[in-house]
Amino acid sequence: MPFIYRCDNCRLASHPHSTEPDAAHDRDRHRAIAHHGLIPEDSITEHPGLIRSVISSVVADLANSTSQRSEQPQHWQQIQKTDYFRQAAILLGAGFVVLVLLSMLFRTGR
Ligand SMILES: [Zn+2]
Repeated sequence: MPFIYRCDNCRLASHPHSTEPDAAHDRDRHRAIAHHGLIPEDSITEHPGLIRSVISSVVADLANSTSQRSEQPQHWQQIQKTDYFRQAAILLGAGFVVLVLLSMLFRTGR
């Protein structure tokens, strides 16, 4: 997942970095050169990759359609809003996709 540094004052963004410390290095360098060491309104954001974006949107759609269909207990709705649930759903979705791809691979090998 790429990390991108953005300076809102200058309306600039760094190239995507694979790690947050690399983006922080760009931030520190930009602050020193363009803002003389002062701290502008800036941020480092993590952008999910294409596959993670697609899976999380599918999971969100499924969660929304499920919650609209029936009344669910309060504690279950609270669990669904947690990051742990979301990550587990993403991992399950990714695991399912991998299993489907592996089964397709073994079928074509025969
Ligand atoms: Zn700036």
